[in-house]
Amino acid sequence: MQSVPVTSVERIAWLEQSFVDAPLEYHPVAPKRLPNEVPFTSDQMITGKHLCDGNLPIPVALDSESFPVLGCPLDCAGCSVPVHIRHAPEVVMRPEFWARVFEIINDTVVQAYNPGLQPGEEPRYAPYMRILGGEPSTYKPKRYIDDRIVTYGTIIDVLRAARNQPYFMAGLFSDGVSILHQPDIQEQLTQVLERIHSSVDYLPLDTLPRMGAAEYSDRQKKAAYGGHMLAYFAQHGIDAVANIVLIPPHPERGEPGNLDQVVDLSRWLWDRGITTTYCPIISRRHKAQHGREEQAYATELRRTHTPLLREVVAALVAEQLAGRGKIRNSRAYIEGIPYAGVDQLIGWHGEDGTTSFSPNGRMGYDPMFKTQAELADAPGGYYGYEDHHGKWESLRGSNYLEMLSREHAKWEQIVRSQRQVLTRVDAPALVATIEDAINFWEQNPHWLEPAHGDQGAWWGNTIKNTKVGLYKGVYRSDIVADRPVETI
Ligand code: SF4
Repeated sequence: MQSVPVTSVERIAWLEQSFVDAPLEYHPVAPKRLPNEVPFTSDQMITGKHLCDGNLPIPVALDSESFPVLGCPLDCAGCSVPVHIRHAPEVVMRPEFWARVFEIINDTVVQAYNPGLQPGEEPRYAPYMRILGGEPSTYKPKRYIDDRIVTYGTIIDVLRAARNQPYFMAGLFSDGVSILHQPDIQEQLTQVLERIHSSVDYLPLDTLPRMGAAEYSDRQKKAAYGGHMLAYFAQHGIDAVANIVLIPPHPERGEPGNLDQVVDLSRWLWDRGITTTYCPIISRRHKAQHGREEQAYATELRRTHTPLLREVVAALVAEQLAGRGKIRNSRAYIEGIPYAGVDQLIGWHGEDGTTSFSPNGRMGYDPMFKTQAELADAPGGYYGYEDHHGKWESLRGSNYLEMLSREHAKWEQIVRSQRQVLTRVDAPALVATIEDAINFWEQNPHWLEPAHGDQGAWWGNTIKNTKVGLYKGVYRSDIVADRPVETI
């Protein structure tokens, strides 16, 4: 493995090097070699010029993700994010860009989703602004700008501004480590946060481990810090969300995965007022991205995990239906994990629901997929990130086979047309994989049946990490606890 470059210029050079074999649109147009200049670009990306003249080349989606800082303090085994990205703490969003982000969303999104809205009238739909990273609580751009007054000098400033916008909902995605080591930030966040997310993949330890402690892995530390941080904010009345990635055992490293502790982990979180979302470890979509670490995907879910996944899903559904669970995913999504989550062959059709703001102020669809065309070429994208209740309803059970047939037709056509695939997808191999999946599920139709036998009950309004929400005054209410069970 290559050593980690030390300076910003070295990191950027290394990053560029890793994209030498990527399609042209990944290559930097005019890298400025500045610390906060990330050399991803393409013709379809939104640039400062587009922002100034208001002529955006892609529609701005309702949901937004901002990556104010790329650096991550952890070093989890099997992390797929390139080292030169997650160890680049100097790559930060320019503070002056935030005001423009708020303007764009207010001017375009609120109007687009609330047609006919009159000045002073309350909108029905509110944009959700989610800030992630890297570790966003380390955002302190003042250090990088000499002799200038910085309005958005910390993450608190940014969140306060987002919260004070009449239509925004301010959310933060943090690993917990940095926040729990900054008591002042932690306390200030209780005043400005409207929602907090963290990844909690394993049962948190009772006490927080020292960050340097060798007896625990960084993944265990992350779970402990994430879990205890969410518990703290939940106690302070903030909407706390734990994202649980379903991880199978690692075949070579002897790591146990978390499938056998997902239900206990969920109970730990629910008991502390924390709601949960679930997604399978994302493999196909990430593998399609240029720059991801290939060796990170030995832990992908496979069809051999389907029986155990069905048990996990059945237990989660039972908990939710009994009123004990606080699950934010739709039931249709959860029920699909043992088959669609294992295959991850569902492509991305239609507009992306999220606009990403990158550290250099650029906007795109995703921090690593920058264009709609790339998203369409990424198998698994739809499964991994979209959990809209209505969409998954139509892909349940045997409908999944119909969906696979559509994907098969799409990729056969791509192979025939010999058009360039923008991602790292081997199109002929993908066609063969989809055929294999169709054969497998046709021979095992019982595994496409809902894992939990109770078909009469449902829960509604559950959208993973929130895609489209009602006006925040309504939407901030707890979306799962104490809701009457709906019937389909
Ligand atoms: S917290 Fe996430 S980005 Fe950071 S090392 Fe762990 S898996 Fe990678």
